[in-house]
Amino acid sequence: MISNSQTDVRVKMLHGGQWKDSTSGRSGKLFNPSTGKKIGTVPYCTADEVGSVVETAAAALPAWSETPAVERAQVLFRYRELLVKHTEELAEIVTREHGKTMPEARASVQRGVEMVEFACGGPSLLMGQCIQNIARNVDCETIRHPVGVCAGITPFNFPAMVPLWMYPVALACGNTFVLKPSEKVPQSAVRLGELLTEAGCPDGVFNIVHGDKEAVDALLTHPLVQAISFVGSTKIAQYVYETGTRNGKRVQAAGGAKNHLIIMPDADLDQATAALVASAFGCAGERCMAGSVALPVGDVADALVERLQAKAGAMRVGATDSGADVDMGPLITREHLDRVVGYLDVAESEGATLAVDGRKAKCTGDGFLVGPSVVDRVAPNMRLAKEEVFGPVLSVVRAGDIDEALEIGKGCEYGNGASIFTRSGWAARQFKHHFNAGMIGINVGVPAPMAWFPFTGWNRSFFGDLHIQGAESFQFYTRQKMTMTRWFASAAESHHDPVWKTGSK
Ligand code: NAD
Repeated sequence: MISNSQTDVRVKMLHGGQWKDSTSGRSGKLFNPSTGKKIGTVPYCTADEVGSVVETAAAALPAWSETPAVERAQVLFRYRELLVKHTEELAEIVTREHGKTMPEARASVQRGVEMVEFACGGPSLLMGQCIQNIARNVDCETIRHPVGVCAGITPFNFPAMVPLWMYPVALACGNTFVLKPSEKVPQSAVRLGELLTEAGCPDGVFNIVHGDKEAVDALLTHPLVQAISFVGSTKIAQYVYETGTRNGKRVQAAGGAKNHLIIMPDADLDQATAALVASAFGCAGERCMAGSVALPVGDVADALVERLQAKAGAMRVGATDSGADVDMGPLITREHLDRVVGYLDVAESEGATLAVDGRKAKCTGDGFLVGPSVVDRVAPNMRLAKEEVFGPVLSVVRAGDIDEALEIGKGCEYGNGASIFTRSGWAARQFKHHFNAGMIGINVGVPAPMAWFPFTGWNRSFFGDLHIQGAESFQFYTRQKMTMTRWFASAAESHHDPVWKTGSK
């Protein structure tokens, strides 16, 4: 375990292979959410510092983009080995700065490692297309070029995994990268950067800046940045998308979510309850794929709520940094804790019933802790049914039939994930076809795709065209070049143009 007495970390930026202290006068405090105590400081880089890092990334671009794809992949293979070797250490950093339980933190690192494994396939995924003789004696091919300097801006909730969604693929494609991790959890990214250097990534190819809006705006407006990957709340995702594209950049921006879980009367209720509890309360509900609204259909509601009460009520909640065996850890900050608790107050005032009240849970530790809540008889027009809470709160909205449940989904402004629990192939098929969300689970509580598939958020959960993960990510980080070729057998060959069918024969 990382020592709890470590209270004076001042996080450094990675600039051209050097770890440097920012000269900025602005900074933020870092907390251990398990104890509520300060563990360090993160300087907020100035726009000039960010600009200088972008210039360094641009200077490293020619050599890296000319490095053979196989050699770039070999750096990633070595990186993958180092990440596996250091998984426990990385998980401890995630737990300490974010508050996840150790099993959750390990799993999140593992999901990030899978992105590196996927990116190691770069040489295959970068292959272009070719057709010989598309017109008489004319061949045509497409090849993929890197786009240039790319930037990644990441949220607090997966300090290692979400950065790993971005730069391994970007680097495999021959781009250079500037990462701006969440200012709440920058230390995991720092360790990821150290390991990438150890894997043989050349200086300047991967860089890290820290900060808030000033650093983000510097990336969004810098003329040398070609592409931006963003993950965070919807409001900022939209801002990043609009500002980045207005400045001529390619942008993929994943936003917030409100995920629905439909429970049909024929579902295996014990399996469904276990999946719902893991979905809603895993990572303390701070997941963009967390189940947030349970939609029991017909007369299954009472039996479901009874089971949810038993299971959620038995969860052990507490500090996660001391090796204690708990089911759920703290929230990220005091302010976020107050916000989540505020939603419970609002739900009560709007007439919903607290079947499990997380405010009354016995939590072990002094950090930003609250127990899981199950809020029954939430109406579709209540705030709790519509807004992203991003905490351990599961609303139960009772639906008369599957059509009503689908209708509630249609009204949702977000569109990340949704799941159905049923034994009926027909109901599952109806749900898959008609539900208004981009990632669908059938008897699966968290249908977050693995690295090889795209993270296909819909509606206001995603701004852009090409999603993160999967083959789409290779498209995002490359641009295509088409070459049309004609060779002449002899000077006497006809001047007829075989494509336009013009000219003399
Ligand atoms: P956030 O939007 O507050 O912050 C995300 C990033 O944006 C951070 O790096 C932050 O420094 C930066 N930022 C914040 N305010 C900014 C501003 N005004 N201008 C420019 N940049 C700004 O998000 P968060 O609280 O760190 O993360 C939680 C959110 O992320 C939730 O809404 C969650 O659903 C979402 N999320 C989405 C996905 C997905 O794949 N769709 C995955 C993980 C998290």
